[in-house]
Amino acid sequence: MPKVVIDELRCKGCALCTTACPRGLIKMSDKINRQGFIPAVISEEDLEKCTSCALCAQMCPDVAITIFREIKK
Ligand code: SF4
Ligand code: SF4
Repeated sequence: MPKVVIDELRCKGCALCTTACPRGLIKMSDKINRQGFIPAVISEEDLEKCTSCALCAQMCPDVAITIFREIKK
């Protein structure tokens, strides 16, 4: 399961999440979404480096980012 899911259709392209990530994992896409905004994206490779800290999700004013954490039993 991916640790970070960015809902492209909710994203307004403000780029706040790109500055919030301490690892610099979130980038802006080179495509526009259906609303005409450039959405934030995270690559499969960068997902592997994500710590699920959720700073990006807390920063997003449009609640476009969902973080998943593994529950250790
Ligand atoms: S959860 Fe943390 S490490 Fe992962 S992309 Fe968001 S800010 Fe970066
Ligand atoms: S903070 Fe939210 S709305 Fe802004 S670019 Fe990131 S995902 Fe999109």
